[in-house]
Amino acid sequence: MPEILKDQKCPICGEKSLALTEDEREVPFFGRMYLFSMNCDKCKYHKADVEAVEQIYA
Ligand SMILES: [Zn+2]
Repeated sequence: MPEILKDQKCPICGEKSLALTEDEREVPFFGRMYLFSMNCDKCKYHKADVEAVEQIYA
């Protein structure tokens, strides 16, 4: 289940209208991957990224 954090501060427009979604899933050959995406309602800022969990906690 993805975790969604609402009302986060947007790095672009500074409004607290950013929704941050975090998720972790098992990917064949890559292991556990950490996914996150940011969406701002005000300025439509969007960013999504994927990283290997092993890299983050190394
Ligand atoms: Zn924004």
